[in-house]
Amino acid sequence: MTTRVKTASEIAAMRDSGRMLATVLKALKRQVKAGLSTKDLALIAAAELRPLGGEAAFKGYQGFPEVICISVNDEVVHGIPRADKIIAEGDIVGLDFGVKYKGMITDAAVSVIIGKPKQQGHIRLLQDTEAALAVGIAAVHDRVRTGDIGFAVEQSLKHRRYGIVRDLVGHGVGHQIHEDPNIPNYGRANTGPWLDKNMTIAIEPMVTLGGDRVYIAKDGWTVRTADGSWSAHFEHTVLITEDGAEILTSLDDLPAGKQ
Ligand code: MG
Repeated sequence: MTTRVKTASEIAAMRDSGRMLATVLKALKRQVKAGLSTKDLALIAAAELRPLGGEAAFKGYQGFPEVICISVNDEVVHGIPRADKIIAEGDIVGLDFGVKYKGMITDAAVSVIIGKPKQQGHIRLLQDTEAALAVGIAAVHDRVRTGDIGFAVEQSLKHRRYGIVRDLVGHGVGHQIHEDPNIPNYGRANTGPWLDKNMTIAIEPMVTLGGDRVYIAKDGWTVRTADGSWSAHFEHTVLITEDGAEILTSLDDLPAGKQ
């Protein structure tokens, strides 16, 4: 389905959903450490979400078996949490979560380095990918075209020889996890479908230290880099406004919580 202009009550539900999502991601960022399995993190996510009142939107989506996608190192996205997948010092861990509340879905992701990075390039990769997301969000306004967003994201990453994953893209979001149109992380300005204020979209650059090619692993879900290079993924759900965007999944304005 194509993303629709959301009503005031739908937007209110998405604000609540996004806040729950950000709360869970913040808790995961605080608790993730070497020695935990990715399944442990899924259990933490479920436990953190439960009292907030939302549902994990990914569980069962096209048969996805878990509440969260956790993707480590050369895994770009859609990693399935497993009890035998243990996080190690220096890993880059992508945490991609979705929340449904009052029928409305938000989608967001962060990548984190566990403890001491294996190389400085990993820190830069995460910083540059998060910055590319911010640049993409800054390009948003009423009647923006999808190509304007993709162009902005791609340009912001040009100063280094990164791979920008092309097979996976951002998307409309709200009533469904994935609504049309696609929001690529590359492209030309003044191309692609127009987006209107009060539509909601997920922008999500996926960036590698090598090439842009990816493949789907034998589990049928996990997307890995073809060349084994490590990758980062940041994502927000945003509401398009007259002259900008409101980030519905921001981690920045949450209460500090327990440290
Ligand atoms: Mg997404």
